Amino acid sequence: MKYLSTRGDATPRAFCEILLEGLAPDGGLYLPETYPRVDAATLASWRGLSYPQLAFEILALYIDDIPAADLRALLDRTYTAATFGDARITPLKPLEPGLALQALSNGPTLAFKDVAMQLLGALFEYQLGRLGQQLNILGATSGDTGSAAEYAMRGRRGIRVFMLSPHGRMSPFQQAQMFSLQDPNIHNLAIEGVFDDCQDIVKAVSADLAFKQRFQIGTVNSINWARLLAQVVYYFAGYFQATGRDGGEVDFAVPSGNFGNICAGHVARRMGLPIGRLVAATNENDVLDEFFRTGRYRVRGSAETHATSSPSMDISKASNFERFVFDLVGRDAARTAELFGPALSRDGGFTVSADEFARVPGFGFVSGRSTHADRLATIRDCWQRHQVLIDTHTADGLKVARAHRRAGVPMLVLETALPAKFAEAIREAVGFEPPRPPATEGIERLPRRFEVLPADAERVKRYIAEHCGA
Ligand SMILES: *Cc1c(COP(=O)(O)O)cnc(C)c1O
Repeated sequence: MKYLSTRGDATPRAFCEILLEGLAPDGGLYLPETYPRVDAATLASWRGLSYPQLAFEILALYIDDIPAADLRALLDRTYTAATFGDARITPLKPLEPGLALQALSNGPTLAFKDVAMQLLGALFEYQLGRLGQQLNILGATSGDTGSAAEYAMRGRRGIRVFMLSPHGRMSPFQQAQMFSLQDPNIHNLAIEGVFDDCQDIVKAVSADLAFKQRFQIGTVNSINWARLLAQVVYYFAGYFQATGRDGGEVDFAVPSGNFGNICAGHVARRMGLPIGRLVAATNENDVLDEFFRTGRYRVRGSAETHATSSPSMDISKASNFERFVFDLVGRDAARTAELFGPALSRDGGFTVSADEFARVPGFGFVSGRSTHADRLATIRDCWQRHQVLIDTHTADGLKVARAHRRAGVPMLVLETALPAKFAEAIREAVGFEPPRPPATEGIERLPRRFEVLPADAERVKRYIAEHCGA
């Protein structure tokens, strides 16, 4: 399997060549040359596999430069009941006949990003070991991504993490989760500024190519192909749990921000998994819902980006969306390059043609939007009706899922975080404190390890240079 760029760079690259990279050199995103097709007989033969076995069958279709025995061992070590609380890794939680949550958030940081990030940590360590190289991961976080990255990379050979966060602005739980890590390869840099300042610093450091090369700077952001690929697996796992031997279609509702999670569903569907609909659920930051209703993709400015009670979906643009549009326009790289290059920078967005928009239903996508009031009502209703407590992001998914139910087709709502992470909104909805998983009990009282730095890229560079052992 070789990979190409959505903007036309067709240099054939193997999986491990793009593993440690973000954007392709032409600014596009990596995709496989084709999506491997899984026929009905193969699909049937996968029913009954354990999660790591299923992950192996799927990943082996995309990775031909890691020996099978090594890949199997990596997956067996990553997807364990010890790390994810359940041997099924992403078990279904039935709500009512035909409607269930798929629990993706029982990993170490209580959000679905662990499912992919834990594998990324193992793959990075493996590949860096083979190359005899080191990597210094630089990132900016307002919460979920940074903690998932740190818990995936802690203690790994050849890897250091420098994670920037806005000083004093993350939730107390998120701060405790990240800052209590004592591993010497994890560096928490609390920046005196807001999240945008952190992101600007990451951009400035990455733009200094000499520095980047000298100190082997890399990222783990959501456009990384390996992260997306890891997420494809749980669509298959959910499908098998929701259907019997006779198969049939399943719909998925996905709380969406950067379009990474639902893009994995798109890939699973292209591979032949019988997904009927992919329901994209947004919060008030409805870039994606607007596109699926109108064909217009419009990036928001910071003044138009709302801070909501489902903060991990507060996006101004959907960084993985280019992958879907590439497929929508018939994999026309010149067209994709025009839309995401000149059109986006000139007009802040684009509208696909009527012919292109007419293809959307064939890809199974529908969408909807949810607000703070919807989230509270949905959390309360789900608690009262089913005695199941859900977080705010999952509530956006459930709210929109209910509007798209189809008779006879199971609907799976991807649970992307546990309520314990967003206690304030939960209290507002149901009037009590969400339960804490035992492993996170009392983390606020643990000793903390972090460094406060001014919002100054040069100062951050100096810190990295002093702490990366190079
Ligand atoms: C990151 C995140 C999302 C959004 O996922 P995308 O892949 O960016 O669409 C939704 N919910 C939670 C809890 C998240 O952490």
